[in-house]
Amino acid sequence: MDRRSFMISSLASAGLLMASSGASSGYAKGTGLTVPGFVNGPRPKITPKYGFRPWRPTYRLEAEKAPIAGAGLVVHSYGYGGGGVTLSWGAAWKVLDLIKDNTPVPLSQKPAVAVIGSGVIGMTTACLISSRLELPVTIYSDKPWKATVSNIAGGQWSPTAVDGTDLADIAVDALDYTNYLSTLDDWGVHRRDNYARMAELGLDKLHRLHVHTSKKASRIDARYVDRGYLAPGKAVPWPFAHSGPVTDCKLYRTYLVDVPVFLERLEKELNALNVRFVTQTFGSPEELGALGCPIIVNATGLGARKLFGDTSLQGIKGNLAVLDPEGEFDWLYSGIGYVFPRSRDIVVGGTFMHENTSLAPGNVCNSNADAPDVASDAEMLKVIRLAFSGMRKQDIMAHLSSLSLPCSYSGLT
Ligand SMILES: Cc1cc2nc3c(=O)[nH]c(=O)nc-3n(C[C@H](O)[C@H](O)[C@H](O)COP(=O)(O)OP(=O)(O)OC[C@H]3O[C@@H](n4cnc5c(N)ncnc54)[C@H](O)[C@@H]3O)c2cc1C
Repeated sequence: MDRRSFMISSLASAGLLMASSGASSGYAKGTGLTVPGFVNGPRPKITPKYGFRPWRPTYRLEAEKAPIAGAGLVVHSYGYGGGGVTLSWGAAWKVLDLIKDNTPVPLSQKPAVAVIGSGVIGMTTACLISSRLELPVTIYSDKPWKATVSNIAGGQWSPTAVDGTDLADIAVDALDYTNYLSTLDDWGVHRRDNYARMAELGLDKLHRLHVHTSKKASRIDARYVDRGYLAPGKAVPWPFAHSGPVTDCKLYRTYLVDVPVFLERLEKELNALNVRFVTQTFGSPEELGALGCPIIVNATGLGARKLFGDTSLQGIKGNLAVLDPEGEFDWLYSGIGYVFPRSRDIVVGGTFMHENTSLAPGNVCNSNADAPDVASDAEMLKVIRLAFSGMRKQDIMAHLSSLSLPCSYSGLT
């Protein structure tokens, strides 16, 4: 039984398997996709949000045997930058392998597992440990999932601003499971076409990595690449009606994880699996040892910087302008900023600012060369409107640099 079929059967046994939606979207859409009213109309009501992507030169996905008194094994899983939602299921499968290979207590004795962190990494990992290894799991965190960075994410399936030696393999496992969830009705995971003004760096990088390094290439070629996933962007005419004279763009096939819907559904799944949630803040690794759990999974995201003294972690700030939902749009736009229409809102975002850089213009380090260095949600919206109006990238950037941008960075810590 492969991993995917195991999960299908475990969800079915929990009574949670839903009918397939049979959703599929084709390439041949032609022109005339409608755009939300804010693109051409009056300024909408904006709910500003921002969060810090937990970035590291490479994510940390490794086991440490007996690093602290009281815990025989600590598995670290954090540092997924702008691709944590994307990679979550693949990273969770890897954690399972690390537990199986390094467990301090035979798994048949059902050792208790403490997962630290209630973000997407902690919750997906807890789900697989409970359903696949059938071990008792408790999730400890200082914040509920609704207050995590994970719940800020826009939710495109794209490994953006994230790196690691086995990235292609983890992404492929994640893609497999994301694809499966997209066939279920209530997980908020949908196939989407992304129309990109410029190359979508995360998806393009994954294509290159997959082609050159993935051990699973042949399996994936048949199931995904041939259907347009993990493929390089394909030039197509600009499809949006009532917007500017952009002549062509790149089309990618990917998924949208409608994050609030997805995390809510995941919580329901964890409840059905009897995974407990406990609110607790940990100030040191020794406090984790005091839990008395032989196996600990560290899924604390940016929190690992303080908790485990990991100075290679840094936050990449992302601003979002979140707008009220409007109609049904089954596309994504990216390139100069992004627009991700979801069921409960429309997320406009795509900014990348490393937290440890000075805020002076020109000193902002962009992980995504195509994302604008804007400082506020209102500016973000302006960028998107200019992009849809057909302005060239350099003209948009020139326009932005002539503005005096409001800098409110009270969230930096
Ligand atoms: C604006 C923005 C847009 C994004 N868009 C996307 C996207 O489109 N696609 C995508 O794949 N990714 C996206 N991301 C990235 C994604 O959000 C992150 O990679 C992901 O959420 C990281 O998940 P995590 O579980 O590791 O961390 P978090 O969600 O931060 O969770 C960490 C958990 O650890 C807990 N914790 C930390 N320290 C302690 C402690 N000392 N004691 C107890 N608990 C502790 C926290 O309370 C929290 O529960 C985006 C991020 C931002 C900011």
